[in-house]
Amino acid sequence: MKHLKTLAFDMDEVITDTLAKKIAVLNDLFHRNVTKEDFLGSRNLDLSKEQSKILFNEINKEGFFRDLEFLEKDTRAILEELNEKYDIYICTAAMEVPNSLQDKYLWLKENLPFLNDQNFVFCGDKSVLATDYLVDDSLYQLEEFKGEGILFTAPHNQLNNEHSFTRLNNWQEVADYFL
Ligand SMILES: [Mg+2]
Repeated sequence: MKHLKTLAFDMDEVITDTLAKKIAVLNDLFHRNVTKEDFLGSRNLDLSKEQSKILFNEINKEGFFRDLEFLEKDTRAILEELNEKYDIYICTAAMEVPNSLQDKYLWLKENLPFLNDQNFVFCGDKSVLATDYLVDDSLYQLEEFKGEGILFTAPHNQLNNEHSFTRLNNWQEVADYFL
């Protein structure tokens, strides 16, 4: 059997457009007109403690992560192509939102059926991963990762240049880098 390099992808803000759903929910809850621009340079908005709690409870409800859109229209096709050349792992920090576990598993089975579900990793701290690469939008996860960390651009990290990771801005750049 040919030995393929192992390539791990984060899920939220890399494969799925979780921020879009979060924004839709919070605009609905608090009658706001928030857009992705409002998350430039930050993960948090000017929400009160009470509002943050209400929003978290909504996100932690069963179903929130079940119908997410792909981040980009070619995300799935590029993953399918990468799957021919790499051993793909999906590594998502699901512990932050415990009720997302089942939704995320079902989402992956439905939307990326060509992946091996033995390679789904629902974790907290990604420093234990031993894959060759990790593509993630969270700098704190990349900083502890032992392999080659790749920063995937998201509004919250877009303005941050104080790191030494290769930055990929979209899925076409992922394809160009790995294929
Ligand atoms: Mg993420």
